This record gives sequence, structure tokens and C-alpha cells, in this order.
Amino acid sequence: MTSDASASLTISVTELTKKYGRVFALNAVSIDVRAGEFLTLLGPSGSGKTTLLMAIAGFNRPDSGRICFADEDITVLPPHKRGVGMVFQNYALFPHMSVFENVAFPLKLRKISAEEKHHRVLEALKTVQLSDYAERGIDQLSGGQRQRVALARAFVFGPKILLMDEPLSALDKKLREEMQIELKQLHRQLGVTTVYVTHDQREALTMSDRIAVINEGELAQIGTPREIYNRPANQFVASFIGESSFIPLHRDDSGQLVHEGVAVLPVPNEETGKEWSLVIRPERLLLEKPKAKRTNGKIYFDGVITELVYQGETAIVMIELGNGKILTSRANTRAGDDVDSLELGQTVSVSIDKNDAIVIPGETK
Ligand code: ADP
Ligand code: MG
Repeated sequence: MTSDASASLTISVTELTKKYGRVFALNAVSIDVRAGEFLTLLGPSGSGKTTLLMAIAGFNRPDSGRICFADEDITVLPPHKRGVGMVFQNYALFPHMSVFENVAFPLKLRKISAEEKHHRVLEALKTVQLSDYAERGIDQLSGGQRQRVALARAFVFGPKILLMDEPLSALDKKLREEMQIELKQLHRQLGVTTVYVTHDQREALTMSDRIAVINEGELAQIGTPREIYNRPANQFVASFIGESSFIPLHRDDSGQLVHEGVAVLPVPNEETGKEWSLVIRPERLLLEKPKAKRTNGKIYFDGVITELVYQGETAIVMIELGNGKILTSRANTRAGDDVDSLELGQTVSVSIDKNDAIVIPGETK
């Protein structure tokens, strides 16, 4: 297979809007996908992911906005002229054809010679580890094998763009996790610009170069998995990706963010709003040893343990603050973290390093 990333295309989506009746399935979405990139559209069910993918594939026509592949405006080009490979959740294989015939189908459409076709199909089947299955019928394959056939069919003709809509969601958890890694490796091998749709945040974090988070037809944030996880831009992203506790903060006249009368952090940017939220990831909230010295570099909270959940390598500790807010901490169970000595009802102090504090504008919901 080709691994020439220069043969893949950029995709630029500009101000794309699509309405169904009064519903904005997409509302002025702009996203640039880099050549050779693995970009994931992540969002809850009904957020507009499929609508966007289908607009890129050419199966629906946006009301306004523009889609370009490299410099070419393809907004109204019919799907078969776009040269993209597609994989769907339900495989969409031809049940009456063999594995070989399914994978050969796009080459047949393109009138590739028999010899070349044979060579390319076998090569594609080798890539998805199905060399021995060419003559099998589709009904003789497992779910994972079917999805591999669908994949081989999507890239066998050397598309410069690969689009996948929840391709693993029909598989059970273990197989899905194996396929995530396989797909990532396949992408690296092919070097083809890939847009992947999922509602599973862990899958998105595992597979993507960058993630575009979609909420109610709008782009909520785009960035690398690390950026999205460590610097969520708003409350939607902070709660949809990973777990978070939220603490309301109020901006005082000197530009400090205050929690319960204590200034904890400066306002991080030029925004002028009064209400802010502190986002705390459970693994960043640390249990303080009794009587530990307090330092300026941390934010402290005192509370009572209301829940302890042992989960093997980690334990979840829930702490209720005086104001009724619950903070969640994920502690390592290895020796030294003293999780074993904790008890329900115990009074504890927890802290977060100010460098780990995420502050986002807006009232805590
Ligand atoms: P997702 O793939 O993120 O689950 P979709 O893109 O399928 O979301 O849908 C986005 C919104 O557009 C939803 O409110 C959905 O009900 C609506 N929608 C999608 N396709 C159609 C259609 N063909 N007719 C009417 N409404 C649609
Ligand atoms: Mg969908």
C-alpha cells in the first residue's frame, strides 16, 4: 500500500450550515483538516457529526458554506466524483458477494484491469490481515472481520480521503479496543487524511491526531487529545471529555478569582465576565496528609469523605465540601498514598496544584 502522505488532501470546511426544518444540524461550522491527519468528530448523539461527514462525502447538500479538498471547491460535486473512501457503522457490504468481490467492487467501478485488480485486492486483504479469507462469503465472517472487509474496500482504490462513521460501535468492547489500535496503525501506514466519527470520548482520545468536539451543530473546541483534555475551552467540553468537578468562582475588582472569600487564581485572559468555573480532574485532586504544611502553589479544600470506591489500581474518593459541593479524587492504591486508611465520614483536606487548575468562563452549571 502507498504510504505517501503527500498524496493525501487537506479538507477545509467553512461556515457550513445545514437545517432540517427548524433544527440546525450544523450551524456555521468551520474546520480545517490537515493533509494526512487523523481527525475525529466527537459529540453526543444528534450533535451533527453524521451530517457533517455526509456533507464532506457529498451525500447531503449544505444550505450554506463551503467545502474544499486542497484548493478545489467540491461543495456541490456528486459523491462518486470526490474520490473518498467510506466506512459505515453497519459495514454496508454486499451479502451475496465474496470477500474478494466486495473489496474489488470500487476497482470494478473504476474499470481497473483484471490483473491489477487481483493484485490490489490481495494487497488490501493482506493489510487488514484477511489474506486467507478472499473466497469466503460475508455471512461466514465475524463482526470484526466484516469491518476489516469494509475497511479494505474503502481504501483499495487509493483514496486521498477516508471517512468513517462510528465504524466500531457494533463490536464488543474488547474487539473495539483492538480495532482502535489497528485502525490507528493502518492510518499511519496509508498516510491518508482521515475524518472519523465517534460519540465515545475514550476512542477519540486513543485514536486521533486532533479532535473536533461538536455540540448541537456547533464546533465546541478543536485540538489535540492533550489540549482537549488538559485545556477544555468550556463547560461542555470539560464534562463530555473525561470526568470533572466544577467549583464556582467569582471575579473581584482586582481581577482575582475568588472561592468562598479566598482569592485562588488570577483571571486567565481578557474576558470581563464575573462568573467563572474551576474545573478539577479527579487524578489532579490530591489528598493531603493530616497536618501537612500549606503552600502558595496549591488551592485547598476541606471536606468529609462521603464515598470510597475501590477499583483496583485506583480508588475513587468523593469529598463533600461545607457548601454541599462534591469533589471527586482518583487516588493511586499503591503504597504511600494511604488510601487504605481512609474511612467514610472522615474529615480530609484535598488540594490541586495551581498549574493543574483549569479555569473556564461562565457560571457553574
Ligand atoms: P449525530 O451523527 O451526531 O448523531 P446527526 O448528524 O445524525 O447527528 O443529526 C443531527 C441533527 O439533525 C439531529 O437533530 C437529527 O435528528 C437531525 N437530522 C439528521 N438527519 C436528518 C434528516 N434526514 N431529516 C431530519 N432531521 C435530520
Ligand atoms: Mg451519527
